[in-house]
Formats: sequence, C-alpha cells, structure tokens
Amino acid sequence: MEKIQMTTPLVEMDGDEMTRIIWQMIKDELILPFIDLKTEYYDLGLEHRNETDDQVTIDSAEATKRLGVAVKCATITPNAARVEEYKLKKMWKSPNGTIRAALDGTVFRAPIVVKGIEPCVRNWKKPITLARHAYGDVYKNVEIRVPGAGKAELVYTAADGTETREVINEFKGAGVIQGIHNTDASITSFAHSCFKYAIDTKQNLWFSTKDTISKTYDHRFKDIFQEIYDSDYKTQFEEMGLEYFYTLIDDAVARVMKSKGGFIWACKNYDGDVMSDMISSAFGSLAMMTSVLVSPSGVYEYEAAHGTVQRHYYKHLAGEETSTNSVATIFAWTGALRKRGELDGIDALVSFADDLERAVLWTIESGRMTKDLALITSRDDVIVLNTEQFIKAVRKKYEEIA
Ligand code: NAP
Ligand code: MG
Repeated sequence: MEKIQMTTPLVEMDGDEMTRIIWQMIKDELILPFIDLKTEYYDLGLEHRNETDDQVTIDSAEATKRLGVAVKCATITPNAARVEEYKLKKMWKSPNGTIRAALDGTVFRAPIVVKGIEPCVRNWKKPITLARHAYGDVYKNVEIRVPGAGKAELVYTAADGTETREVINEFKGAGVIQGIHNTDASITSFAHSCFKYAIDTKQNLWFSTKDTISKTYDHRFKDIFQEIYDSDYKTQFEEMGLEYFYTLIDDAVARVMKSKGGFIWACKNYDGDVMSDMISSAFGSLAMMTSVLVSPSGVYEYEAAHGTVQRHYYKHLAGEETSTNSVATIFAWTGALRKRGELDGIDALVSFADDLERAVLWTIESGRMTKDLALITSRDDVIVLNTEQFIKAVRKKYEEIA
C-alpha cells in the first residue's frame, strides 16, 4: 500500500511520562506505516522545557499560529515535587496555559462515545461538547475579608480621572467582598471560537449564563454573543440548518439532562469548570475525553484531556506491565490529521482519520479494551489488553477495514 502524502506539516508537541511512551507507540504502529508523516517537532518534555528556559513551548505556539494545526501530548505542569524530581531551574508555567494565552483560544472537550461504555444519563446518545471560557471572572478575582462595620464600594477610575461608584454593601459587622472582571475582547474571542467550532463540527451551539440576576455582567456576555452571531454567523448557521440558542443556565442544566446530546454547550469560566467535570464523569472516563483548543482566527490544537498518567509510568519504569488507555491520544492524532486533510484538500488523510477512529471503536466494541474501560463496561465478555496489545489490536482492525 502506498503511503498517504501530506503537503503542510503538523506541529507535533511531544510530552511526558506514560503519554510520551504511548505517543511513540501510536506513531510507530498507527501513523508512520500508513502516512508519509510531515511534522515540525517540538519536544515539550519537562527536561527539554527546562533546558530551553521554556522557550520551546513559546516556539511551538508560534509554529501553531503559522501552520494552523497542532497535536499535543500530555505534559507535566510542574509543582514543588516536580521541581525537586527534575532538578528544575524554576517552576515553569503550565504549557497548556502558555499555548492557550498565545493563541487566545477556547478549549472544547468532547467524550468519545462507544457501545459498551454507557453514559450514566440514559438518554444521552451523542457526545456533549463543552466549551469553557478560559479568562477572568472568579479566576482573576480580588478578595477582601471584611473585619467589621464599614462601607464597601465598587470604583472605576477612567483614563481621564473621572470616577464611577456603586455601593456594594454597608457592613454592620464582619463579612467578605470580591471583585471580578471580564473584557469585551476576551468574550468576543470566546464567541468567535464557539461559532467557528459549531460550523466546523456541524453541531448546534447552546450558550448559558445567569443574566436574569447579573443584569450588567452576564448580560454583556449574552449581548456580545448575539451581536456576533447576527453579524457574522447567522446566515451560515441557517444555510447549514444549525441553531444558536441562548438560555438561562438553570434552564440549560435541565435541558442538557433531558437531551439526547450532540451539541456544543458554551459556558462561562466557572460554569465550564464545574460542568465539564460533570459531563466527563457522566460519560464514563477521562481517558475517553478529547480536547481541542480553537483560536478565534481558526487555529487548532488537539490533545487528550487526561494528564501524563504518572502512576502507570512508574510501573512501566519498574518493568511492570501497564494497561494505559491510548484512545484519547489516538483521537488527538486523528483530529489533527483530519483537520490538516480538510485544510489542504487531501481526502485520503480525512478518510484515514475516519477509518482509524472506527478501528478504535470497533476494537473496543469487539470486547478488547484496556483495564480502565474493562472496569466500567456493561459487557461481560471482555479481553483486557495491555498498553501495547491494545494499540496493536487497533492496527489489526484498521488493516482489516482500510
Ligand atoms: P492523570 O495523568 O490524568 O491520571 C490520573 C489517574 O487517572 C491515573 O492515575 C489513572 O488512574 C487515570 N487515568 C488517566 N488517564 C488514563 C489513561 N489514559 N488510561 C488509564 N487510566 C488513566 O492525572 P494526574 O496523575 O493528576 O497528573 C499527572 C500529570 O499530568 C501531572 O504532572 C499533571 O501536571 C499533568 N497533567 C497534564 C495535563 C495536560 O497536559 N493536558 C492535564 C492534566 C494533568 P489509575 O491510577 O487508578 O489507573
Ligand atoms: Mg475542574
């Protein structure tokens, strides 16, 4: 069989620990035998980030802006223990945070739905994609513990010195106050990313806030989304038979529970933080969640939602067998290759991604899966595979169907 040719390289961001091991296995077994792979390689493994003073992370983000599509392996976000373990020069920032800031992007998380791993919510038949706004609100708050009686005010001083004031509360005793903010620029980027991704994945878009209570703050989010929808996306949504739908967060939660799935749910920062954990655990497993960062200019970075699976890595280093689930990392590769194929008009690359994903699902549906899935499946005829056996089983299935 002739290998599929690529024209534009993918930005390849390698990572850490068990996912770095899986990364190489996926390339060797599932990608390189079938594709004449072109990538611009960036090693975001912690050792190399440390050697380059984290410049490699910035370079990889810049390359993504230039080339348009990236695929990323999970990486360690250093904490005190990692600084010690890897003898780091300093506690480098989260690579995901750095890349997200550089691309001004929004993260969309979607579960991989497969027969035999049933969602806790019976009527969910299709994935629910969650889009979380990743700037501001309570994540950039300023707080004061009020010790006793006094007046708390909200003060805005304009560039020309004029002040606007609002009384927050006349305290009669101790309490707490909090100041939060967001910007039109960030909300606008969030809105563009959401509308673009809805068109891209041909799914309806829901957006919810608490605008009935937060009549200025949350209402601004609602207005910006509506203005951008009306001016830039309405025509295309209507042509494609898609719907943009705004509703109060309470109503959204009720509707999500009763839905069949198959849409994108955009949330403010806090709502998205909380709801994404609910959606992912209700769908089954973090190892079956994909994640894609979409910038308002239409740049894409694909990855798995889980971390580097440190516990399995230490077992692997000790020479013990592991059964680590590679599905989300395989789907990061297929997501990136499909997008590259679409952008460059290479149908064979798009079909390859479709077939490989089908091979993964059919492998699991034939009862062959890693331990994490064996523990939660509704099937009783399971063959538990180790990390490498699973990837090899997917290859065999791919070769049967391709
Ligand atoms: P984790 O790597 O997601 O793993 C937590 C646990 O979840 C694992 O110990 C394992 O449970 C289970 N698990 C996760 N992915 C799995 C998979 N593919 N197959 C089978 N089981 C899986 O989270 P963590 O241990 O909290 O974090 C480890 C490192 O990852 C940290 O240094 C963190 O900074 C980093 N991290 C990176 C990203 C990213 O790059 N996007 C995201 C999150 C965390 P059992 O041990 O019970 O088998
Ligand atoms: Mg959370």
